[in-house]
Amino acid sequence: MNVLCLYFLITPTPLLMSQQITCSFCGRNKKDVQLMISGINAHICDKCISQAKQIFDEETKAKTSSGKGGKNNGPKINLVKPTEMKAYLDQYVIGQDEAKKVLSVAVYNHYKRLSQKNTESDNEVHIEKSNIIMAGETGTGKTYLAKTISKILQVPFCIADATVLTEAGYVGEDVESILSRLLQAANFDVETAERGIVYIDEIDKIARKGDNPSITRDVSGEGVQQGLLKLLEGSIVNIPPHGGRKHPDQKLVAINTENILFICGGAFEGIDRVIAQRINTRPIGYQLENDHVTHDKENLLKYVTALDLKSFGLIPELLGRLPVLTYLEPMDKDTLKKILTEPKNALTKQYFKLFKMEDVSLDFEEEALDFIVDKAMEYKLGARGLRSICEAIMTDAMYEIPSNDNIKNVTITEEYAKEKFGGSRFNKLKAA
Ligand code: ADP
Repeated sequence: MNVLCLYFLITPTPLLMSQQITCSFCGRNKKDVQLMISGINAHICDKCISQAKQIFDEETKAKTSSGKGGKNNGPKINLVKPTEMKAYLDQYVIGQDEAKKVLSVAVYNHYKRLSQKNTESDNEVHIEKSNIIMAGETGTGKTYLAKTISKILQVPFCIADATVLTEAGYVGEDVESILSRLLQAANFDVETAERGIVYIDEIDKIARKGDNPSITRDVSGEGVQQGLLKLLEGSIVNIPPHGGRKHPDQKLVAINTENILFICGGAFEGIDRVIAQRINTRPIGYQLENDHVTHDKENLLKYVTALDLKSFGLIPELLGRLPVLTYLEPMDKDTLKKILTEPKNALTKQYFKLFKMEDVSLDFEEEALDFIVDKAMEYKLGARGLRSICEAIMTDAMYEIPSNDNIKNVTITEEYAKEKFGGSRFNKLKAA
């Protein structure tokens, strides 16, 4: 019956109009149902279609879970080629070409590895996990990149803040709580969670202080790094599904982290000094072009290596489990202005849409945009600052307009932006 149902589901046939038509499965008359689809010699009603769909879902789900640990199992992943992924990221994330490229390749290889795993034999080359670490100032798009990738791949995604993590037994969150969050993002479907992406923010904040562990041992940071090792390398971790601390009579869920992609990010403030020092004390015989170095003095992060991260305080074992390293460019005015106006869901576009829903056309003067960008540069919050600056400027307008039918066009001038940002009242809006 299931096969037959499916056959009719995928056969594009016109609706029959005759009243004598009955469903070949349940016998209901056409006039008693909402929809009747006809095949060559048979008909099917909407009720039987939804029943067939239910049977189909249950059957395929049962097959997937009974094949667990076997071959070709698991939910399908939307494998996107690196060039396609970069092109998609370009629609949302401005600049950061190097990071986009490195991430696209690493993510593609990671998920390719998963599909290979299902078919590989024991003596085949084993592709290792490519967890990623990104260094870049705050508000340069680290989290946004990771989030956008998970959206492209349609896998569950969660963000964890490394600063709130503590060693098991201490006040704070266990490292394992990260997985509870991922499981929640996967709607408590363990298999789906096991293919998700975890973004660990502020990884630099759990660096141990000082390069020499025997002299200055910083237990809290290092303890968390040690805790993360287990998660990152791939192991079975028992977690309380709804988070919180484990306690004896709680039901735990086993999560295998082997196929979870971990992306870590941090600002690594001050690492430029470490990099500069390394570049200047490079071994004899290794020549770095002089103009190259002076040229990019402002963004030494470009030359960051795992060695620098180790000097910064990440333990070598952790770095070993984060083999892909990339950096993000600091934000300049040009980039910030583009972020404000160009991406698919740029802030200004979001305001246009909000105003349009009130039948009001909105416009930003170039000078007003420049003012917003200047303020974001001043506050050193990267692109993250843009949103709050815009909100400060736009709130009064958004408050007033829904109850004022006379305003049909709004232009945000530099003067208005300055005034609103300065905290004064809504009075210089050009309204027509
Ligand atoms: P980070 O994790 O590096 O501190 P985020 O990724 O959280 O920064 O960035 C904050 C916000 O700024 C994002 O939600 C996004 O809207 C915006 N943003 C940051 N960088 C970019 C970029 N390169 N292109 C477009 N938007 C960006």
